[in-house]
Amino acid sequence: MKRSDLKNAKRIIIKLGTNTILSDEGINFTKLDRLAYVCASLIQEGKEVVIVSSGAIGVGSMELNEANYPTTIADQQAASAVGQTLLMGHYSRFFKYYGVNVGQILLTRDVVDYPQSLQNVQVAMDTLLRRKIVPIINENDAVAVEELNHQTKFGDNDTLSAIVAKIIEADLLVILSDVDGLYDSNPQQNPNAQLIDQVSEITDEIQQMAMGKGSEFSTGGMATKLNAAEVIFTTDSSLVITSGSDPSIIFDILKGESIGTFFHRKGDK
Ligand code: GLU
Repeated sequence: MKRSDLKNAKRIIIKLGTNTILSDEGINFTKLDRLAYVCASLIQEGKEVVIVSSGAIGVGSMELNEANYPTTIADQQAASAVGQTLLMGHYSRFFKYYGVNVGQILLTRDVVDYPQSLQNVQVAMDTLLRRKIVPIINENDAVAVEELNHQTKFGDNDTLSAIVAKIIEADLLVILSDVDGLYDSNPQQNPNAQLIDQVSEITDEIQQMAMGKGSEFSTGGMATKLNAAEVIFTTDSSLVITSGSDPSIIFDILKGESIGTFFHRKGDK
């Protein structure tokens, strides 16, 4: 799909990173409210919206008054168990205000390995979407410890969101992040860093641009976003990585505006 065709995207996944939802003060409620408004508007226009949300471990850590992101897997499991339910409560409340129901789906890696599990996820997602309910997806961090381990699994919600895009044949994945997109060098260190408008192949040069990790309460960084892009390139979906500071940026993306970095397969340009 070209940028100018994004207005036709029907099935849209919005992925929010921990830093997009949380600030030092806690959950950014203004942003959740804005997001709920955007999603409700899109649904009214006939689109289907799925959210992939991080933040369980971050919200849980704050609730438990932890000063830092938990370092042991066991503490991450505990924090996610506490945080996931709080997070969903907030999503449910804000979306309901705009007349939209949400449904929680927690995924583990095995869904893609077992045809029956995969089909179960597809049926659940299709049914929620047909009924105009917004599925809110996260990894099942409390039990899927390989996922927290970052060894054999989705690894992070960036990759997870791309796998979900593949599973449900989404038209567009928007990753809302604390950066504006992919830069040719680190914008925090280089004031002349340039935002890359479009990418259709993950070359060594692109990999170099994405070195480094996310910040304290996140697991990602640009490297995991490129993993997501690699998955997207195997599908008919497109991907936009952009800033999550105001979720209404999604309206502009759907107008085809040059926002963030647009990942599309070669030839789709
Ligand atoms: N699933 C983790 C959480 O909800 C986050 C994983 C990620 O940051 O990508 O806290």
